[in-house]
Amino acid sequence: LAYQYSSTNTDVSQQPNLIPPLTTIDAVQAYHTRLTYLSPNTKFLMSLYLSPAITPSTIAAAAATNHIYGVKSYPAGVTTNSAAGVVDYESFFPVFAKMEEVGMVLNLHGELPSTEDDEDVNVMNAEEKFLVTLREIVGRFRKLKIVLEHCTSKAAVECVQELHESSGGRVCGTITAHHLFLTVDDVVGDPMHFCKPVAKTGVDRRALLRAVVRGKGAFFFGSDSAPHGLKKKYGGMGGGNNNAVVVPGKCAAGVFAQPYVTQLVLEGLERAVEMGVVKKEQCTKEVVEGFLGGYGRKFYGVEKSKRRMRVVSGEETAMEMYEVKIRGGEVEDVVVPFRRKEPVYSLEMLS
Ligand SMILES: [Zn+2]
Repeated sequence: LAYQYSSTNTDVSQQPNLIPPLTTIDAVQAYHTRLTYLSPNTKFLMSLYLSPAITPSTIAAAAATNHIYGVKSYPAGVTTNSAAGVVDYESFFPVFAKMEEVGMVLNLHGELPSTEDDEDVNVMNAEEKFLVTLREIVGRFRKLKIVLEHCTSKAAVECVQELHESSGGRVCGTITAHHLFLTVDDVVGDPMHFCKPVAKTGVDRRALLRAVVRGKGAFFFGSDSAPHGLKKKYGGMGGGNNNAVVVPGKCAAGVFAQPYVTQLVLEGLERAVEMGVVKKEQCTKEVVEGFLGGYGRKFYGVEKSKRRMRVVSGEETAMEMYEVKIRGGEVEDVVVPFRRKEPVYSLEMLS
């Protein structure tokens, strides 16, 4: 799915400013137009941001656009009922019912928000605790297609696998490239590795790697790549726009892996084979193609691509950073990709 937020700038070359969320069809359409301008041969599957502004009639109109395939929900956008350990989506049930009717996908950012009432919720267990809510929605809306986005935990992988099988394939999970590499030890102290949901333990990472090669379509690739500039990564969130003053702020959550995601998934699998986590025979062409594209296309009802790409090992090194220029060419910020300056495989488009 295309990224959730639009820039507030009208110049698409400017730094993505991840607000405001796309809560109206007009905003999604405008964003779709800009993306298509940038990449005319890419089919963008757009999504709306779930908010109180979304009604069943919004869903009906969205379905008629031919661009909008899903609605993404962040728990921050819904009320919580932490005492029961469940995110309370009840006010959105009419919206979900309409989505179910028109075949629109619910894309869940599955983390139970931490609240002061429940001291037992933290970044390490927020995803696992959300699974109660996932099961509830899956059980209540028997035809709704659901994706648990960017799974990071063994618990989530097991839950999605089970729900995928018991639901006839209408529940899937996505896995990012960076979560195939990172554990929480990599995240602590390195803002460039901080994203939500945070990378978990080595046991969880193994579960993700195994899920990639399990095949059968329960999991497919989702980059969840976020190009936050260094200013936002290194405490710039509270700093406003005054470049001359360094103001401590929060670190923006997100890893920018997009330039190398395909290669990284393959490298992640190679490492998994070396570590003995998966067997080489499991990494078949079918499984890799399915994970990187085929399973997702099938789930979304998008026809197969005839375009081919080849990954080759060579001399390429990941970029150290990308400059973000404002009008006039002045460098406003830089975006640092995942695994900067490290060797990466090269990607060739064959057709
Ligand atoms: Zn998310």
